[in-house]
Amino acid sequence: MRERELIVVGGGLAGCEAAWQAAQRGIRVYLYEMRPLVNTGAHVTDRLAELVCSNSLGANQIDRGTGLLLSELRTLVSLLIRCADESALPAGRALAVDREVFAEKVTQTILSHPKITVIREEIKKLPETTAVVASGPLTSESLSASIANFLGLSNLFFYDAISPIVEADTIDMNVAFRASRYDQEEGDYINCPMNREEYENFVEELVKAERIPLRSFEETIESGVSGGKGKFFEACLPIEVLARRGKDALAFGPLRPVGLKDPRSGKRPYAVVQLRQDNLAGTLYNLVGFQTNLTFTEQKRVFRMIPGLERAEFVRFGQMHRNTYIFSPQALKPTLQTIRRPDLFMAGQLIGVEGYAGNIASGWLAGVNAARYIRGKPLLQLPRETMLGSLIYYVTHASEKDFQPMKANFGLLPYTEEEWLRNKKQRHFYFAQRSLDVLEQWLKECDVFE
Ligand SMILES: Cc1cc2nc3c(=O)[nH]c(=O)nc-3n(C[C@H](O)[C@H](O)[C@H](O)COP(=O)(O)OP(=O)(O)OC[C@H]3O[C@@H](n4cnc5c(N)ncnc54)[C@H](O)[C@@H]3O)c2cc1C
Repeated sequence: MRERELIVVGGGLAGCEAAWQAAQRGIRVYLYEMRPLVNTGAHVTDRLAELVCSNSLGANQIDRGTGLLLSELRTLVSLLIRCADESALPAGRALAVDREVFAEKVTQTILSHPKITVIREEIKKLPETTAVVASGPLTSESLSASIANFLGLSNLFFYDAISPIVEADTIDMNVAFRASRYDQEEGDYINCPMNREEYENFVEELVKAERIPLRSFEETIESGVSGGKGKFFEACLPIEVLARRGKDALAFGPLRPVGLKDPRSGKRPYAVVQLRQDNLAGTLYNLVGFQTNLTFTEQKRVFRMIPGLERAEFVRFGQMHRNTYIFSPQALKPTLQTIRRPDLFMAGQLIGVEGYAGNIASGWLAGVNAARYIRGKPLLQLPRETMLGSLIYYVTHASEKDFQPMKANFGLLPYTEEEWLRNKKQRHFYFAQRSLDVLEQWLKECDVFE
């Protein structure tokens, strides 16, 4: 390969961001994406930056962890957040996007960049020249083996899940109602209200419904006897697993009715299933928090017990999937270079960053640093006071016992006792403002955009 060239493996969220950032800094980028020649089992299109599950990038206010990270990424001129803002849908205080418009915008921007060449090919071995590896939670088998071999570590397998999507015009709006929590006016979500009897019948059927059998090693992981290395993500537990924790687990969890009143009765329902808009046309809605491993037939039977969804048509059923990631504290520097090879960078879910925004953010850092490495400039680390700085710090410094995929959250930021003692609401705004100020100052001191 000639000088000033970079290989990026994986045209997902992290890979696209990394490729674009490096190309913007004058580097010729070869972006390898294996789809559609090899599929992951979760992606359904050949587009770059396809969102495989929720269409929400998370909270959009700066007093929320993800919201602060989104704000930082806007300041850092992230391509993917720009595309997300341009494809935003109404979703209360969250940044939800039309997934097709979003992926199309990213794909077209990448394809038309004069410095980026997209190559549809599976990379089976770690590249031997300067590269960013961002092959995601569904990294192909041969590449996973090559990474494990290079790092001298076993890959870790976790389980996660995706929620079903239904056609909007098959939802019975004589039963369901529109509202966002605590809003007086008609809101962005469709809510299916349940009385106590409906809720209890639903939970009873959910708990005994047939599930897709897990392969034997996956069962070992699920039961937590594989050396403690595999388990469900707490935030992405299948609804049936959560329901088994107690009869009111859902009513206090994803089906909590707080902040919602059924406009017909004027009362708060016993439980509420919320559906979030999934495409710009508003023809599709996903069941919020309904990740599941039930068989498709059982999903249809049990989810149609939800008032308002009796005739719902499912355009996608919930599914389980593999999640591969490395033990980053032993493998990566805070610059996202591997410890063993300074010209090899990693980013995305593969390094244990959780959530769409976090994955985009890690791609930003890897792309910028790979470009700087090629150009012989000092590599960057963001200040700990920023959400991105703290997220990367966590991923590269956590202890083996504590390490698990991590989303942006205020608990990662450094603080003094005095700062912490402020009340929670002020604390978040205070930390958010501090982060943005520190970031602004840092940008003045570093030549980040050159
Ligand atoms: C089924 C499922 C549901 C999820 N649900 C959510 C959710 O609701 N919210 C959330 O925040 N996160 C969710 N995640 C996690 C999600 O994957 C990440 O947040 C995000 O997509 C990860 O970004 P990434 O760039 O690391 O990987 P990806 O976006 O997956 O991109 C990796 C890309 O690399 C390609 N690739 C893999 N191996 C190779 C190879 N050898 N050669 C070339 N190309 C390769 C893949 O085809 C893919 O396009 C989910 C993941 C899965 C799999």
